[in-house]
Amino acid sequence: MTTELEVGLYIFILAGFLGYHVITRVPPLLHTPLMSATNAIAGISLIGSLVVAGANYGPFSTMLGFIAVACSSTNVVGGFLITDRMLKMFKTSEDQAAQRRPLNLKALIVLTVLVVGLLVLMYSNRELRQNGFDFFRDVLSAEVLKYSYIVSAVLFILGLKGLSSPKYARRGMFAAELGMLMAVVGTLFHHEIVTYRWIVLGLMIGSIVGGTMGLRIPMTAVPQRTALSHSLGALAACLVGVAEYFRHQGELGAVVMIPLGFQVVVGGLTFTGSLMAAAKLQGLLPGHPITYRGQNIFNLSLLAVIVGSLIYLVITPTAGIFFYVMVALAFVFGLLLVIPIGAADMPVIIALLNSYGGLADACMGFVLMNKIQIITGSLDGTSGFLLSLLMCRAMNRSAFNVLFGAFGKVQKEGMDRPEEAKGAVRSISPEEVTVLLECMRSVIIVPGYGMAVAQAQHGVAELAKLLMKRGINVKFAIHPVAGRMPGHMNVLLAEANVPYDQLFTMEQINPYFPEADLALVVGANDVTNPAAKNDKTSPLYGMPILEVDRARSVIVLKRSMRPGFAGVDNELYYDPKCMLLFGDAKESLNQLFAALKS
Ligand code: NAP
Repeated sequence: MTTELEVGLYIFILAGFLGYHVITRVPPLLHTPLMSATNAIAGISLIGSLVVAGANYGPFSTMLGFIAVACSSTNVVGGFLITDRMLKMFKTSEDQAAQRRPLNLKALIVLTVLVVGLLVLMYSNRELRQNGFDFFRDVLSAEVLKYSYIVSAVLFILGLKGLSSPKYARRGMFAAELGMLMAVVGTLFHHEIVTYRWIVLGLMIGSIVGGTMGLRIPMTAVPQRTALSHSLGALAACLVGVAEYFRHQGELGAVVMIPLGFQVVVGGLTFTGSLMAAAKLQGLLPGHPITYRGQNIFNLSLLAVIVGSLIYLVITPTAGIFFYVMVALAFVFGLLLVIPIGAADMPVIIALLNSYGGLADACMGFVLMNKIQIITGSLDGTSGFLLSLLMCRAMNRSAFNVLFGAFGKVQKEGMDRPEEAKGAVRSISPEEVTVLLECMRSVIIVPGYGMAVAQAQHGVAELAKLLMKRGINVKFAIHPVAGRMPGHMNVLLAEANVPYDQLFTMEQINPYFPEADLALVVGANDVTNPAAKNDKTSPLYGMPILEVDRARSVIVLKRSMRPGFAGVDNELYYDPKCMLLFGDAKESLNQLFAALKS
């Protein structure tokens, strides 16, 4: 057992390093698809769930296994579908002209139908079930499992590697989908599975829910979908852990009890924390941070109780009451962890919860001694951790500050300054904008969160096309944390058929601003605030920004003088060369478009 543990640890660490190298090569353009892809791959907790649901471990375990199968398969199907939906939107101007047909979606549907068909056939035909099952179980199962998992691991890594370029991303994801299929089919022949009833039902529910989510959810709601699927994956890991503990009635050695404890605690807190994040992002709960006196001390004390219970359980594993109280406290801790975090910091917390989810999966792999789960858990954990670090760096914040700083709380300093001290704000009408555009040769469009809120991406794309037809050079400037998710703007613009070769990263575009006749800011605020460069007292100070203030003129589309996510007043609006086109971005663009056409 100890040797197995050692091997597991080696695999965990090496997969983490490999994941680091593969994931750092994923460009910011594809960071949103990366999140949903790792989410789908982390749905590998499905294989542990399949065994618990199908083995003869008793009704309680079977029920938990069934719920876990439904949750994990929702993630697998939904995650791959939405990743594919996103990836097929990323086209260059050449691709758009060639009008390539989507391949992966069809392939995924065919593969899903194949698995479900195989299961239904096995379950409905007694003879086939008996003979086929016996044959595979007795003769092939161990070999099938071993090799299918090895091939799956390779395919997952190739899948993530594909994300290093939009050109190969869909092919990569197809490899990952194939890897998942092999792992699932291989597991169906696991020697402990004796019934497929709950497995089939769980897979059907998961496919329907995940399929609907993957195909129907609008691109603007991707952040909350991602949070929701993290919560489902984590719930699956937690439930499988509880089922394992219940099955053995706590008769477990320390080697199993330690990862099992982590599995249920991390799974539990990730479940409720991610649910909370999804509810905040969806607007079901207030997005601002909720803070109270002694909050950090209370949270840390609760964490200390959880850790204390875990240590006690390692020494006395049969103390069942401690186990179940520990799980309940982990659920509560997840909620308390996310309550003080403002909606602006939610993406960081989502990525962090993603990495916790990966950790829970890896722990499940240690408990079940399943190496593929250790590998994917490690990959998922690394990806989430790296993305949260990248976001923190792009915001010039520390992870500690995000977790305990309640940053999303509206800052009062800038807003309390008297109006006259800030200077005058100039507003502009759509008709006046069209007159200005007549004499422009180069325009840089800067999309931000407001574009997502207004769903104005199609309007932006149409406007860009029209300007280009008139011989104006149009570029898009994408800040790494514009919107509410890394790469959020890239996905929205890709959805509106903007070729990705027109999208420029912050580093690429900043040198072009001084040459641009106009910076057209559509619903972006914090990422353009010059205070980040000039004002040492600003909470944004040090955050790299898009230097729109260096363009010859600036027009900002927004509804009011309200601040952006950081709650900080934007100096840009008082710059004499800046004009504000007030109104909903979509409506303003429609008016602008109509005025330009007429
Ligand atoms: P922002 O600072 O949140 O500003 C959004 C702007 O859009 C606001 O000024 C708002 O003004 C305007 N707006 C909202 N709805 C609109 C509508 N329907 N029509 C027109 N305008 C509308 O957005 P951002 O510049 O994209 O910056 C992103 C923020 O999120 C940063 O603070 C960043 O640090 C944070 N964040 C992002 C990520 C990420 O991964 N993307 C991660 C962590 C944190 P009105 O209300 O006046 O219209």
